Amino acid sequence: MININFIFIKNIIFVNYLKKEGMEIFKPIDLNMESQTTDIENIEKVKCLIIGSGPAGYTAAIYASRANLHPVLYTGLQMGGQLTTTTEVDNYPGYPDGITGPAMMEDFKKQAERFGADIRFGIATSVDFSGKPLKVTIDEKRIIIAEAVIIATGATAKYLGIEAETKYTGMGVSACATCDGFFYRGKDVAVVGGGDTAAEEATYLAGLCRKVYLIVRRDVLRASKAMQQRVMNTHNIEILWEHQPVDLFGENGVEGVMLVKKKGTPQEEIVKIMIDGFFLAIGHTPNSDVFKKYLETDQVGYIKTIPGTTRTNVEGVFAAGDVQDPHYRQAVTAAGSGCMAAIDAERYLSELK
Ligand code: FAD
Ligand code: NAP
Repeated sequence: MININFIFIKNIIFVNYLKKEGMEIFKPIDLNMESQTTDIENIEKVKCLIIGSGPAGYTAAIYASRANLHPVLYTGLQMGGQLTTTTEVDNYPGYPDGITGPAMMEDFKKQAERFGADIRFGIATSVDFSGKPLKVTIDEKRIIIAEAVIIATGATAKYLGIEAETKYTGMGVSACATCDGFFYRGKDVAVVGGGDTAAEEATYLAGLCRKVYLIVRRDVLRASKAMQQRVMNTHNIEILWEHQPVDLFGENGVEGVMLVKKKGTPQEEIVKIMIDGFFLAIGHTPNSDVFKKYLETDQVGYIKTIPGTTRTNVEGVFAAGDVQDPHYRQAVTAAGSGCMAAIDAERYLSELK
């Protein structure tokens, strides 16, 4: 067991390296040094640290490498990000015949490595953005001291937690209508949720599908009045008020959903509807917990960026992709903002000189 304490004085870090036996060593490390690794195990200085390996992180790595920022990227648990959980990606420009999510993310990674990005497996477990330099702890042990940090940790779609969701993943269950709606053209689908996302996804799907059931757990929608109007005015959306999904069924994919109507009331009953696609739209959780002590977020947890940029409220910290985007959440928009973050970081670092 080793404890490491830091004292920063004018860009010199004094590391108090306490061994279990009580022996103390104070070792100064000059943070102006260009060398990438200090002689103290598990402490490292980098120019640009990227957290996350989805489209935003890898794109930031491509641009940051080409700008000579020698980026180090930590992949997190899900190397390649959300797209590694899907089969076909048909809407990313440059792949005229479509591509599988894992293959596409492998291409992103190879391209980043081609320009020298240092891609490593590891999770950012805590940060200290209280002053400069910025500090990020990886896997609770390795300390990265960075001049600029790009956060690209994505967002996770919320699921209901019923067993069938896992069973039918990629076989009729989706959390992204824009991504997968195309596969259900002319078919019947259901969307779960009553917020703006559900309303938006239902109207989007109504343009492609024969019929859309909107499954709402209460007797009101949470969505804005304007979105509600759009739903009500769409002839092929049917709202199932006070319904909650409890199970899915089907031989080789989703064929229908079992719902409880008016749960907990004397009118409670089980309803079965036949559908080909089951879309969840009950919200997303941005992966921002680890940064919340220092970075401003909105009510849901999306990191706030200065409009038109990827800059956060902490100088030198940039956010890209789904973790800062409650609206679009697409691979191409994530990649676009990853590019912006690397350019913003490069400009910030050159102004420091
Ligand atoms: P993500 O892809 O979410 O990547 C986040 C990364 O951050 C991961 O590598 C994760 O390991 C890492 N991470 C998280 N926390 C930490 C941490 N503490 N430390 C280190 N790393 C961390 N979009 C499309 O455009 N077309 C599609 O067809 C499409 N299909 C989809 C299908 C599915 C099933 C899903 C779930 C999404 C789909 N999307 C699609 C949406 C798309 O995947 C996302 O918009 C995009 O992946 C967001 O990219 P990102 O880089 O912001 O984050
Ligand atoms: P949200 O506003 O949190 O709504 C989530 C919806 O899912 C709610 O209706 C909720 O029901 C329902 N829900 C949650 N858990 C459920 C469960 N276990 N079973 C059944 N239903 C469940 O999330 P969102 O719609 O993703 O919107 C997030 C934010 O983005 C909002 O601020 C929204 O305004 C914004 N947004 C804006 C636009 C736009 O302006 N065009 C588009 C999309 C999103 P209850 O209502 O009963 O809680």
